[in-house]
Amino acid sequence: RAESAMYEAKNRGRNNFQFYTPERHSHAGQQLKLINALNFALERDEFSLVYQPQAAVPSHRLIGAEVLLRWHSSELGVVSPARFIPMAERCGLIADIDSWVFTQVVKQLRRWREQGVPELVVAVNLSASRFDDPKLVQSLVQVTEQEGVSPKLLELELTEVVALQNPEQALQTITDLRAAGFRVSLDDFGTGYSSISYLKRFGLDKLKIDKSFVDDLANLNATDKAIVKGIIALAKSLNMTALAEGVETPEQWRVLEQLGCHQVQGYYYSRPLAPEAFVQFVQEHYES
Ligand code: C2E
Ligand code: MG
Ligand code: MG
Ligand code: MG
Repeated sequence: RAESAMYEAKNRGRNNFQFYTPERHSHAGQQLKLINALNFALERDEFSLVYQPQAAVPSHRLIGAEVLLRWHSSELGVVSPARFIPMAERCGLIADIDSWVFTQVVKQLRRWREQGVPELVVAVNLSASRFDDPKLVQSLVQVTEQEGVSPKLLELELTEVVALQNPEQALQTITDLRAAGFRVSLDDFGTGYSSISYLKRFGLDKLKIDKSFVDDLANLNATDKAIVKGIIALAKSLNMTALAEGVETPEQWRVLEQLGCHQVQGYYYSRPLAPEAFVQFVQEHYES
């Protein structure tokens, strides 16, 4: 229907500014509702965090977790991050949301330490816009110092978009983050446009191979297998860890093991877990 509306609009001529259909109207209305609700989500305490365990290959040893944001809106119900994160980025709300996530994680790490939960590295997603903030590293360090948590327990995930929008600034920020003791990884690797030469200069700790390349691995998709193999080789030659995302089946795991992938994350090992369930998972799987 959207297509036919578009076709119709085209047929009405180039200078037609009356492209207004009920579909579009209700879509815009929905977006507006979403933005409004998102505006209040922080103060209404509607966000929560889940932790998805990550495992070493081939040992299956628990090595860390990625924290993922969940939003239960009082007005709209559960909204997926795939929907609200891009929206928050466009509306300028993402900086506050990402700082909230980071602070919650650091506080959680302090409480877990006090409770004697074994220490693990937690990876936190950072949106592109936060990289424009010259005080980013300083403000992250301040939170860790306030809570007495070592930056070594925190990994920051950035995307290729961040890295290439302003490579010189990204390089500086990554260098500063690592100098402060944080780990840095590149998320969704393979979906953006990374320049190999920058990759070398960035000095990242980890490449996260995007789920889209992992999906068809076990179906003997020769192309995806070659891509994943190439990414793993690249990571190794640049002294980085390769982690495959979205691993769902034992077959995918086996192919990744065969290709020499270092780490995996995905439903095969564990779904993202609420903090209590995550602690239980850690207690069952942690080997010192
Ligand atoms: P991401 O950082 O690449 O996170 C991985 C996504 O894959 C998560 O989706 C996770 O739940 C999902 N996933 C993990 N394993 C599997 C699997 O085996 N099968 C399938 N089908 N999915 C799997 P989620 O939680 O919906 O998050 C989507 C994206 O939203 C994230 O992608 C990330 O880009 C963004 N995001 C989530 N939390 C935050 C946050 O706190 N801040 C920012 N800036 N972005 C966030
Ligand atoms: Mg991520
Ligand atoms: Mg990812
Ligand atoms: Mg993703």
